[in-house]
Amino acid sequence: MVDERRVMGAEREKRRILIIEDELLNLEMLRMMLSEKYRIEAAQTGKEALRKLAEEADSLSLVLLDLNLPDMKGIDILRRMKRSTLTALLPVIVMTADQEAEVECLTLGAIDFISKPYPPPEVVRARIWRTIQLSEDQDVISWTERDQLTGLYNRSYFYHYAGRFDTFYADVRTDAIVLNISHFHLINERYGRAYGDEVLRKIGAEVRKLVEEKGGNACRLEGDTFLIYCPHIGDYKELLNRFTTALDPDGYFRLRMGVYANTDRGLELERRFDRAKLAMNSVRNYGKSVAIYDEALHERETLNEALLDGFRAAIREKQFRVYFQPKFDVRQGEPALNSAEALVRWKHPEMGMVNPGIFVPLFEENGLIGELDEYVWRETAAKIRDWKRRLGRSIPVSVNVSRVDLSDPELPEKMRGIAAENGLERGEMHLEITESAYTENSDQIIRAVNRLRDDGFPIEMDDFGSGYSSLNMITSLPIDTLKLDMQFVRTAFGERKDTRLLEGVIGLAKSLELPIIAEGVETAEQMQTLKAMGCDIIQGYYFSRPLPVEEFEAFVLRLRD
Ligand code: C2E
Ligand code: MG
Ligand code: MG
Repeated sequence: MVDERRVMGAEREKRRILIIEDELLNLEMLRMMLSEKYRIEAAQTGKEALRKLAEEADSLSLVLLDLNLPDMKGIDILRRMKRSTLTALLPVIVMTADQEAEVECLTLGAIDFISKPYPPPEVVRARIWRTIQLSEDQDVISWTERDQLTGLYNRSYFYHYAGRFDTFYADVRTDAIVLNISHFHLINERYGRAYGDEVLRKIGAEVRKLVEEKGGNACRLEGDTFLIYCPHIGDYKELLNRFTTALDPDGYFRLRMGVYANTDRGLELERRFDRAKLAMNSVRNYGKSVAIYDEALHERETLNEALLDGFRAAIREKQFRVYFQPKFDVRQGEPALNSAEALVRWKHPEMGMVNPGIFVPLFEENGLIGELDEYVWRETAAKIRDWKRRLGRSIPVSVNVSRVDLSDPELPEKMRGIAAENGLERGEMHLEITESAYTENSDQIIRAVNRLRDDGFPIEMDDFGSGYSSLNMITSLPIDTLKLDMQFVRTAFGERKDTRLLEGVIGLAKSLELPIIAEGVETAEQMQTLKAMGCDIIQGYYFSRPLPVEEFEAFVLRLRD
């Protein structure tokens, strides 16, 4: 059993050494000196050496390089090795009788020399051992491998060493762990960068302590995310606790952790960390802070892959269907049809009808939402035109605009194009933009929204009240209508029947003097209450579910009878 405590830089059997040497006698001498402790690979020509390096660099611990080869100069091999990322980190000891070559080899990155004729075997063995140790010892590694702030590896070196760990310790059970500080940007904004840096340094130090105790290694990436690869741990709650405590004994910070535990070595390293990250992201909005990649997440991942794989065909074969849900104006007497919202569904050939809650966030993450949304906008615009022609009336429809769409600089032009192609007039197509979209890259987004609004697309703020935007901010935003977040209606009419929050948010909306839409309204009681509180427009199952286009048309026609 390998000692799991000091795995990276510790005693270990049979590392592999590649000897590049054409003289059989020399080769055999070295083999005799070394084969008890190391596995020896040999190459007798430059060509063979390069091939072996290309194929096996990952599993080698050292190269012994003769400078005189029949087909190539040793020094050229060295030069090539240092140029390729695959072999740049592999230590090379040059064997030569030529002292003048030493300086050049050193400059090129050789670590040591063994002169010919060879010194006594103990000396050769000691040098080789020391070189290997040095190159594996995490403390002697050049600064380029390290993140300056925390002293941990940077991403590429981390993966490199983690890969070597896998090669050397194939039977040690390992964990891929991802650690992240929740809302780190807020910490930076609130307390300043220096403080943010201090927080990162503290976590970094604790992470480092962990891998020193346990073995394995770690890195920092993307600001506030840490990757840890180490022998299997087991109690992750305690581990998270350890980091939280190191950071702040009062527990002000919230850390999130995802684990791909006891991992399957068959899977590529980066994929294992993807899984740990997936697990971590699954705890984003809930009370708990640690998640382990499991069967459920695996199914979710498999589903996501199937959805991503099916996207192209779905667009091509028109599997995406636009449904319409009516909105009613309740300001005067009888409720009157005011407009509709376009909501997308996916009629999947194997999975049946899939709701947008499943695939919209996925497509947002994977850069596909723009294409889907454009498809929905086009379908919607065509319907608005069609209804004008066939039903003889204009029914404005709001379409959802993802926050991701807003960073597309061509969005305003695209929208104008769609409206023009379908002969839409100003105000016939509304845009729903979720409140949280404004809080991200606000300046750029506000500019884009202003353009759209100037071009005649009324703006509805979706999910109003769910985000963190301040009242101050909202008054300066380009908005025509507020759509209350459905959660307010849910809580108000839930088991505890507490309408105070709902009243509060409606009061807030009223003070902005903008029309208010309530959605998710399911009962007459809810409708009446919201109307009494001052809501202008109501959307929800009480009037109708989102309907396929034919049914929506029938619904509209019935209203007129
Ligand atoms: P949203 O824009 O806030 O849409 C309202 C959601 O509430 C819809 O869910 C709608 O079907 C549902 N709903 C309406 N009335 C009721 C009700 O009385 N009770 C209940 N329980 N639910 C009601 P849906 O269609 O599943 O859409 C979910 C979300 O997916 C939408 O939330 C929107 O954010 C997004 N989405 C839908 N279509 C699109 C699209 O074409 N593009 C983009 N980017 N996002 C879309
Ligand atoms: Mg919406
Ligand atoms: Mg909404």
